[in-house]
Amino acid sequence: MTAGLDKVIIVATKNQGKVKEFAHALSALGTVRSMYDYPELPEVVEDGDTFAANARKKAKTVGDALGKPVLADDSGLCVDKLEGAPGVYSARYAGENATDQENNEKLIRELEKLSEGQDTEQPLLSPARFVCHLALYDPATGEFTEAEGSVEGMIMAEPAGSGGFGYDPLFYLPAYEKSMAQLTIQEKQAISHRGAALRQLQEKLGLSQ
Ligand code: IMP
Repeated sequence: MTAGLDKVIIVATKNQGKVKEFAHALSALGTVRSMYDYPELPEVVEDGDTFAANARKKAKTVGDALGKPVLADDSGLCVDKLEGAPGVYSARYAGENATDQENNEKLIRELEKLSEGQDTEQPLLSPARFVCHLALYDPATGEFTEAEGSVEGMIMAEPAGSGGFGYDPLFYLPAYEKSMAQLTIQEKQAISHRGAALRQLQEKLGLSQ
């Protein structure tokens, strides 16, 4: 049997920004529940070197604990001038329990350090991409169904916009002349790493969109 999404879709995350995006994207398929709806769940230590390893670990830990299929998202920002950092450490770039604002401030500091001594004020600091790996795990079969998506952009020196979450205010999309945080949830869904990964996953599961 292939793992499938049921009426209740359990997403192994405590990130409210992700929960909102999944609830919006999957509303036609069911109701999204997050780890907040299951307070007895064990903590998942995200110690993998890749988005794929962390996504599989989150889906399997939560899926085995609940005895139900679980979807996990591991995602992050990879910045060229920082050799791919913060990458899998995106959520805790400025330290354990760092806020989005602290992570964003650290990102700007790290990029500005690289241009110290140059007298040009750059509005765009580096090419970057968001990456999202999705793993759907079915404890009944032990099978994973996986998908990955990415979106290219540029890191801005100044934040713009109040939508989305995480690094969205610093992620500039040249084709839209806007930051990710200036898009509506529908627009973000259409172009984002998470939107792309979700479309690929639904295709693999034979679910119409
Ligand atoms: P995870 O929960 O360990 O996968 O960490 C994901 C982190 O990557 C988030 O806390 C954000 O910092 C960043 N991130 C992932 N997806 C997005 C997005 O869509 N917009 C902005 N930041 C994101």
